[in-house]
Amino acid sequence: MDSGAEAYRVSPMIGSSRPRPRGWLRHYAGFLTPDAAAAMPVLLERDRVQRLRRLGASIGDGAGQRLRRTRPRMRSLQAAPGARLSWHDVPAPAPPGPDGAIVHPIACSTCDLDCGIVLGATQFALPLHLGHECVAEVLAVGERVRTVKPGDRVIVPFQINCGACPDCRAGRTGSCTSVPPASMYGMGLAGGLWGSAFADELPVPFADAMLVALPAGIDPVAAASVADNVCDAYRHIAPHLPALLEEDPDAEVLIVAALERRTPFGSSAPLYIGLIARAFGARNVSVVDARPAVRAHAERLGLNALKPRELRRRAPAPLVVDATVEDLGVSLAQTAADGICSSLGGFHRSTRIPLMQMYVRNATLHIGRTHTRHLIPKVLELMLEDRLHPEGVITSVGVLDDAPRVLREQFLGGGVKTVLTA
Ligand SMILES: [Zn+2]
Ligand SMILES: [Zn+2]
Repeated sequence: MDSGAEAYRVSPMIGSSRPRPRGWLRHYAGFLTPDAAAAMPVLLERDRVQRLRRLGASIGDGAGQRLRRTRPRMRSLQAAPGARLSWHDVPAPAPPGPDGAIVHPIACSTCDLDCGIVLGATQFALPLHLGHECVAEVLAVGERVRTVKPGDRVIVPFQINCGACPDCRAGRTGSCTSVPPASMYGMGLAGGLWGSAFADELPVPFADAMLVALPAGIDPVAAASVADNVCDAYRHIAPHLPALLEEDPDAEVLIVAALERRTPFGSSAPLYIGLIARAFGARNVSVVDARPAVRAHAERLGLNALKPRELRRRAPAPLVVDATVEDLGVSLAQTAADGICSSLGGFHRSTRIPLMQMYVRNATLHIGRTHTRHLIPKVLELMLEDRLHPEGVITSVGVLDDAPRVLREQFLGGGVKTVLTA
């Protein structure tokens, strides 16, 4: 591929405190916590039958193909407890349905969540097939597909969405009601077994609705994470910052990331949030992170970097983005009067919410998932206008063949973002 990947090649950063992978026992013990139990009813609150039917069909198809191979095979990267990553020989996806496509990932990046998944620290049950951020080349399309054709390069949003239901039409593509809640690539059973991006092929059920053409002049390596983390960063800034800056051009954007050095999650989203705040004109952008390597990276990107303990002496900020997994309460305490705390959320241990403080300050908390497909064109616009260069966050570029080794190095060594090309 002509990605110019060499341009982004930098040494992976080695964190001073390495996260430890959980083995089988500790990984499965994590499912017995109240936080984990709370997620299950939400995933099953609608389309339960559709979800179970999908899972059954997918598992049945794998078993059927083992007995009698009717389709070609491909490789797919599997993560197992103990941070074990290995290629597995699996059936290639079935030919696309009338609205679907099959794509071949050409630039796949790690999501911050992948690190936690591989370390066994999330509620996504291992083993699973990994990867949900990619730019891909279209291999085949169904007969009703109009907007893409074989050979096109596309960004593949990590969430599955139909484009036709009322939620999709309103731009809430992450809440598509044609598929079960939280349908997404690379999250195993909980995500619905739709496929994974660290693989040779990926099925796309709604090609016209989901796939976005990669604009000419944008490098697939630079755009790989637009499929998830860059859009996730955008939604914490774009709805709030312009009005704040109109009132006060020096308004602070405070991004609270890891409060502990040994956090199991990656750190690209906090840096993307900082870059997007800059793209929208913020002068005063700070990233709080306990990991020295992440602070150094933030400073290289032109962002202020702070240690968590430095928060104690600081005035609250009008826009706080919570990217912690340790304690949302810290971000809320830093939110100024009439301010907004926007949280990436989802993996906090249960936390103390300072309700009285929030009440007196009239603070707003927003927590939830992004609507990726809806935001991809807006992020690409920033990139095309030369206002956003997400590639600055990448710490390692390699080839997909080396995925088990390169990704293990990142997840255990504290790298920020890896992109693998094929
Ligand atoms: Zn993700
Ligand atoms: Zn929909």
